[in-house]
Amino acid sequence: MGSNLGDSLSTILLAIGALEKLSVTPLKSSRFYSTKPVDCPLGSPDFINVAVHLTVSSEETPESLLIKLQAIEKSLGRQLKTIHNEARSLDLDLILFGNEIRNSPQLTLPHPRAHFRAFVLTPLADLDPDLRLTGMNETVRALKQKCSDVELVTIVSNSQADYPKNRIGG
Ligand code: AMP
Repeated sequence: MGSNLGDSLSTILLAIGALEKLSVTPLKSSRFYSTKPVDCPLGSPDFINVAVHLTVSSEETPESLLIKLQAIEKSLGRQLKTIHNEARSLDLDLILFGNEIRNSPQLTLPHPRAHFRAFVLTPLADLDPDLRLTGMNETVRALKQKCSDVELVTIVSNSQADYPKNRIGG
């Protein structure tokens, strides 16, 4: 998830709270990262990026989950976009859903740009550095090391209070 508009830290914490309700096991969160905007209009603010791992009920599908993610985005102030990749209060992307593959107009799985973006791979590697995105030979740790923009991802201040209780990754 990412946010670069408004009180991003509060929005991300509220989003994590909402996502926790969708998970049947305690949600796992990566560390919180401050990242430089990628493919965004000039002058866009930095993002906070976090990855979380949910275990969903057996009835949940990628499509039903995406609808819930979009409802959470809307409830936390996401406006309809007018400019490509403009600043947004909350962006919830589905990176992976088990081994499911999708190529529909609504949903691409694994997320089509996850494998080359440091702001996705760095938090994802906190959750599981040995994870392989479906169809990829390399682990997220290896993919992250190949990213040219990896230095643009830095850990947000290490205040414990800023973190959800089940965070992992130090
Ligand atoms: P944005 O919120 O601007 O990143 O774009 C959301 C759009 O991307 C929606 O129309 C989704 O249907 C579509 N989309 C396709 N694949 C995904 C995915 N894996 N996760 C989230 N949105 C996706």
